[in-house]
Amino acid sequence: MPKIGNFISSSEIPCDRCGNKRKVSKVWTEKLKNDHGVMIIRHSEIICTNVDCQSNFDKKLKEEVKKRRKLEKTKLENAVQRQNEKNAAKELAKRAIA
Ligand SMILES: [Zn+2]
Repeated sequence: MPKIGNFISSSEIPCDRCGNKRKVSKVWTEKLKNDHGVMIIRHSEIICTNVDCQSNFDKKLKEEVKKRRKLEKTKLENAVQRQNEKNAAKELAKRAIA
């Protein structure tokens, strides 16, 4: 007998890094308000059952986050630097007039 609604959850797809089975580690919902009312989005976190693979992945993820934060910080510092230069130029211009 064919199954109706043969839905493959992503936890049944093997890990793309090591090919091991994966499992759902966390499920949560998020409510989003829009023009039509409230929309509920279901999230699930799927982890690899291979502990080594998962910890490697977590490590990489953390490094990515760190890199991104550093980049954002640099961007911000550059923006501040530019603003300071602008202000200094303005100050100089003011002084030149006076
Ligand atoms: Zn894996």
